[in-house]
Amino acid sequence: MNEITDIAPSITELGERLSRLRTELARRGLAGFVIPRADAHQGEYVPPHDARLAWLTGFTGSAGTAVILQNKAAIFVDGRYTLQVRDEVDTQLISPHPVMEISPEEWIADTLGKNDRLGYDPWLHTPDGVTKIQKACATAGAELVACADNPIDAVWVDQPPPPKAAITPYTLEYAGETSEAKRARIAEIIAKSPADATVLTMPDSIAWLLNIRGGDVTHSPLPLSFAVLYADGRAELFLDPGKITSGLAAHLGNQVGLRDADQLGPALDALGREARHVLLDTSTAASWISSRLMQAGATLVSGADPCALPKARKNSTEISGMQKAHVRDGAALCSFLAWLDQAASKGGLDEMTASDKLQAFREATGLLRDLSFPTISGAGPNGAIVHYRASVKSNRLLEPGNLYLLDSGAQYLDGTTDVTRTIAIGKPTAEQQDRFTRVLKGHIGLATIRFPKGVTGAHLDVLARAALWKAGLDYDHGTGHGVGCYLGVHEGPQSISRRPNSVALEPGMIVSNEPGYYKQGAFGIRIENLVLVTEPQMIEGGERAMMGFQALTLAPMDVRLVVRALLTEEEAAWLNAYHAQVRETLTPLVDAATAGWLANATRAI
Ligand code: ZN
Ligand code: ZN
Repeated sequence: MNEITDIAPSITELGERLSRLRTELARRGLAGFVIPRADAHQGEYVPPHDARLAWLTGFTGSAGTAVILQNKAAIFVDGRYTLQVRDEVDTQLISPHPVMEISPEEWIADTLGKNDRLGYDPWLHTPDGVTKIQKACATAGAELVACADNPIDAVWVDQPPPPKAAITPYTLEYAGETSEAKRARIAEIIAKSPADATVLTMPDSIAWLLNIRGGDVTHSPLPLSFAVLYADGRAELFLDPGKITSGLAAHLGNQVGLRDADQLGPALDALGREARHVLLDTSTAASWISSRLMQAGATLVSGADPCALPKARKNSTEISGMQKAHVRDGAALCSFLAWLDQAASKGGLDEMTASDKLQAFREATGLLRDLSFPTISGAGPNGAIVHYRASVKSNRLLEPGNLYLLDSGAQYLDGTTDVTRTIAIGKPTAEQQDRFTRVLKGHIGLATIRFPKGVTGAHLDVLARAALWKAGLDYDHGTGHGVGCYLGVHEGPQSISRRPNSVALEPGMIVSNEPGYYKQGAFGIRIENLVLVTEPQMIEGGERAMMGFQALTLAPMDVRLVVRALLTEEEAAWLNAYHAQVRETLTPLVDAATAGWLANATRAI
């Protein structure tokens, strides 16, 4: 899926697009305009209609901000994208900056002139984000101005229309709890906050709450829409009526009203007229919504999206769906890995052919809805690029002596998967084996930990790094993220990371366990399973009940890369037990050749 790449300008188009935008800004009396890589829902993936940053600058990464002034232009990206931005953007016209060195706000404060008017689209920024830019403008003596309509849309001639994918019921068979029961639970949170209503802007929260799924962005079955939920459990869903399918209204019931998207404003005005208190997540909502509410006379109660935490705690139906999806996905992945060993040894296999083949195995299940993110298929040095995406230009052969890093996932109706395996092509070096074993020790350290109530992912992160730290090594990404059930592959609010996170791990949460190690220009290693937080249990002779993690992902880890002497007895026992589980579960589901391969790949060490 390359629709965003197709939107990006050629070098000649870039200059022309910039100058068209500058003319439009001048016409509006603006000195400049801020362009985030965001839509009105602050999602990880944006539809082509909202790919304004890519259309204007050529940058296709998943996070970044450009600031275009009349005589200067800059783009700000994080550490994942400092190399990619230089590849994609004409740096003569737009200067790239790593945000660690200078943030857009710092640059705005330094660069804007006195009395300059800087424009922004209030649908694309959160209230928290706007406050930061406002401060920067104030430092420069400039003014931040909300644009009623986006100036890029005014000059983007063939802008794709907003998506209009059908919204369908997500039945109880998969959701496990009625929307009515969920709404009653969330209504209690609203009442306690205390507020009279909440405005939901995250499509995954809306999808979970109303038991619906859509298809407006790639990789996640999200229904792009807004919702207001009232403290009495009633809700209104604001959407393009073209997305409504027959049976949707009946599925939602008479407590959920279907409204045209343009009725959101009047609904917010009504909350204001009635002097209501409205719970709003100011870190994810569009600033347009908070401004409209306040102008109308509502009182904002700032708090986390009330659906986020309940959505993260999967119910027993969702857990069993996720387990089934992982068994199915594991069988497809094993068939691929067995094929890979053969194909790679023959030579001539490249990264793109390999990821296409994996997708074909997943499609052969007959139940694949989508990939859950673009597959990362990286051989040798490409494996060291954390967010690598193979392209015709970068495509490498899997050659003897390479490590091959494969991070991929699938969307099935009953669950979402995300798995990384690192595979030796030919004979690995001693260094590759040492590093792989240290990453594996980190993975096992986290997989086997028992922990009491109140522990957060930030407390546990060190377990995944200890064996690397001992050798003076580390990796520059988080260790784990939440995962939705046939929803986003990245969801909060829990995570496993050094970044402070006050959300305690709770039974039913699903997180990834994905330590890694990357040697620039040489190889990359990552071992990722999704794991389920288990119910607290007493340990024999213990005093406090402890939770733990249960692996959902089922696929062999490459034992050819393991240095047995570096593992403790306990670690080796974990690996053998995990491999036995993989073999016993998947053998009945794969063909004879794969079963033979699997028996060898999961042999005890
Ligand atoms: Zn992954
Ligand atoms: Zn992941």
